[in-house]
Amino acid sequence: MILLTPGPVPVPKRVLLRLSEPIEHHRTPGFLKAFAKVLVDLKAVFQTDNDCYILTSTGSGAMEAVIANLVSPGETVGVVVSGKFGERWAEMARVYGADVVEFVIPKGESVRLPEFNQWLAQINPSLILSQVCETSTGALHPVDAMAKDIRKQHPDCLFAIDAITALGALPLPMDQWGFDAVVGGSQKAFMLPTGLSFLSLSARAWKRAESATSPRYYFDLRKERDANKKGESAFSTAVPLIKALESVLTEFNAVGIFKIQSRIATVAQAFREAMLLLELQEFPKIMGGISSPSLTAVKAPEDCDSQKWRQVLEDEHQVIVMGGQDDLKGKILRVGHMGDISDEDVLKSIKAIAKSLCRCSPTFAEKFTDAALEQALNVAEHVLKETSAIDWTSK
Ligand SMILES: *Cc1c(COP(=O)(O)O)cnc(C)c1O
Repeated sequence: MILLTPGPVPVPKRVLLRLSEPIEHHRTPGFLKAFAKVLVDLKAVFQTDNDCYILTSTGSGAMEAVIANLVSPGETVGVVVSGKFGERWAEMARVYGADVVEFVIPKGESVRLPEFNQWLAQINPSLILSQVCETSTGALHPVDAMAKDIRKQHPDCLFAIDAITALGALPLPMDQWGFDAVVGGSQKAFMLPTGLSFLSLSARAWKRAESATSPRYYFDLRKERDANKKGESAFSTAVPLIKALESVLTEFNAVGIFKIQSRIATVAQAFREAMLLLELQEFPKIMGGISSPSLTAVKAPEDCDSQKWRQVLEDEHQVIVMGGQDDLKGKILRVGHMGDISDEDVLKSIKAIAKSLCRCSPTFAEKFTDAALEQALNVAEHVLKETSAIDWTSK
């Protein structure tokens, strides 16, 4: 099986071994040493001097923590809605009593700054929420420029980003670009199983957290902050996942986070150039948007149901990818580029995608040639040579 979904992702064998170590109690000195280390090492991934926090929840839990700590009922919250995860931000903010104003853009598009600025001029928000990469469509948003525009038009407004398929996958310097809250998740570029979420708040956001009136208990970040100051987590924590995180972050620091990100970018480029040669298109590109390096949403040919395509890939080629959700169901195939993916995995998946599509799309089958596939594989192999896979086996 080759797992190429945009989360969960393949976990390196060495990290899997770490997960199988005997359970320690979360208040023992040995574990607390690892806990203290990951809290420091996370700062390099967030590219921040702010403290970073770990919650024992999936990524959505950290999204909810951002809302619970930064939103007071009745406040205006602006939400960029470009797909399923933008909808999630909006729903959460509404549950916490916010007056939500949405910036809705067609699925697959990236935020366009002139329109975004026009929208900003019409509202008076205390917080703006966006994805960095809208994983349901594969589109990437220009969050650095968005942060600048928000600061210019609404100096007191906070900007929180769901970076769950971006953090660790692409450069996202929190302090330099001026984000007030950044959220990540363990099962994406951190190449761990699902179950941990990560977040960091700016000094301005912490000030808001003190005055916000939303009720909160488990996700009250002040509790976590106070416990972390004493070197502990506020509640029991997922000891095996945190020890595995220690292994991952140690490797990230050893090779450099830039190297991790360039490997993801290389895998994405190799995959996309092969798709182009097979005359398959990136969905965000069709929509005039930009694809995130963390995944590629491939538009299925008109005569192909991508749900069937996905199933054939799984049943006959043992390659696991995702289809589309909601109104994109049947229309796209989403292929992840994060995690412990070898060159061979990439090449096998390209071949499998072409062969399985021959079974699902008569028009594709008609123009498909082995020579075209050969050329696509050659080009992908050439691109992959630029950045080798991180070697997890030597240690
Ligand atoms: C995966 C993902 C989430 C959801 O995270 P869970 O861990 O499933 O709660 C949220 N936002 C984005 C952009 C994601 O890719």
